Amino acid sequence: MFKKFYNLSINTMYPDEFTCNFCGDEIFADDKNATCDKCKSTLPFCSGNICKTCGDVIENEARYCESCKYETRFFKFNRSAFLYDDKIANAIRQFKFDNAKYWYSCFASFLFDVYKKYNYNCDIICYVPMHQKRQKQRGYNQSELIATRLGELLNIKVSYENLVKIKDTKNQVDLNFKQRKENLCDAFFVIDKSEFKNKNVLLVDDVYTTGSTLNNCALKLKKAGAKEVYCLTVAHAHQKH
Ligand SMILES: [Zn+2]
Ligand SMILES: [Zn+2]
Repeated sequence: MFKKFYNLSINTMYPDEFTCNFCGDEIFADDKNATCDKCKSTLPFCSGNICKTCGDVIENEARYCESCKYETRFFKFNRSAFLYDDKIANAIRQFKFDNAKYWYSCFASFLFDVYKKYNYNCDIICYVPMHQKRQKQRGYNQSELIATRLGELLNIKVSYENLVKIKDTKNQVDLNFKQRKENLCDAFFVIDKSEFKNKNVLLVDDVYTTGSTLNNCALKLKKAGAKEVYCLTVAHAHQKH
């Protein structure tokens, strides 16, 4: 109960343009990331040597991480703004489960920076959809909110309700590798293929875990005629090998 009230009051008392999303400290009104300098200096940005495909941080000098070496990826590459540490996980949890919608703008601003850094050049933005039933329960799709803001920042059209999730899948976290693949098989569907035909599609999601979800969406987008699919995610759950 207290937690709910706390989040609600943060939400209404501190509009995100004047306070740091992470610590609540006052910031300059024009800070585009809605994050104070102190928090920025401690955020776990994905930097150093990263996997050329999935963007995960690699401890050695390899070009690809162990999973991308063996997996077929239907997307060209993914880049994430952050590693999924406690601070980021907490923010994403609030965003998804505590109705803390205000995070969308902060996250989109960091994804905008990543988009520019890696010279993405996309024609249309798409987001990982939720099953209708789940979205009704939550009231919103967090990835759709980020995609919408990113579309405004980049001035790129966002595709809505075209890539859809038709199977109410089990939570991927509880499944092993083989089960994950079966779980997602035919979970996604493109209604109007012409929207993606010959386009470079930017696919947005909140967390990159194993890449299975993004891979399945990318496959459907490629089958719909997309030229390439490029993924962009807020956080990367680092895979230790
Ligand atoms: Zn801060
Ligand atoms: Zn990788």
